Amino acid sequence: MLIVALAVQARLHYLLGQVLATGTVVLLTYLITVRIARRNWSDAGWLAYAGGVVAALFMAFGTTFWDNAIEAEAERLLLSLMHVECDPRGRTPFIERYLHGGIYRRRPDVMAVAHGHTPSVVPFGLVGTPMVATYHNAAFLAAGVPVFDIRATFGMTDIVISSAERGAALAEALGDKAVLLLRAHGFVAVGPSLPAAVFRAIFTEISARVQLQAVTLGGSIAALELDEGRLADAINLATVGRSWEFWKRRVTP
Ligand SMILES: [Zn+2]
Repeated sequence: MLIVALAVQARLHYLLGQVLATGTVVLLTYLITVRIARRNWSDAGWLAYAGGVVAALFMAFGTTFWDNAIEAEAERLLLSLMHVECDPRGRTPFIERYLHGGIYRRRPDVMAVAHGHTPSVVPFGLVGTPMVATYHNAAFLAAGVPVFDIRATFGMTDIVISSAERGAALAEALGDKAVLLLRAHGFVAVGPSLPAAVFRAIFTEISARVQLQAVTLGGSIAALELDEGRLADAINLATVGRSWEFWKRRVTP
């Protein structure tokens, strides 16, 4: 009973924090807009309405990392002021959050990041053999799959992306690609939506398996070329919803 009460309390605090954070950001945006407008134009009454419209539009249509980051920071500040313990179990934050944060900072086109340590992918981060797009579902690999070797920048480490500096270096290695291999660690797959990132993570693993099987047959691998990958990836992104619904049904009771 106590656990249930604590869980309900945590969720109420979370919802309250979100409402207050959103309100705070709208208010700050309104005040800043009015201030800038009055400095540049006059003290006209319509500026107050204009400020309100800008603030409302900012929160209603702002979907970038920075919009969310501002709101999150306001929420964190408010929760701190309220002395709220959000997690009744006292868990520490996920250590590799810097991996995700580094990519979001560098890539405004990325809306979701999937990170995995799946066994078929790891070998490609260890040897010089490039990962290729073995079939159409893995078309996003045709643009190239760079490898991030943490030793190159940070020397001897615990391999984990556990600081903002490591996250930034990883994001730089990713560049504009969809997938990055992490030497002796795993990989990240990014996308313009959560379904796209999950799609790419799953088919990175499957394509790795196919490539390992193809190698055992001997001869060269006739993988997707760059233009084929670009064209096929556009189709995959347009139809990713079908796979997403299927995967959701598999994990939804
Ligand atoms: Zn990891």
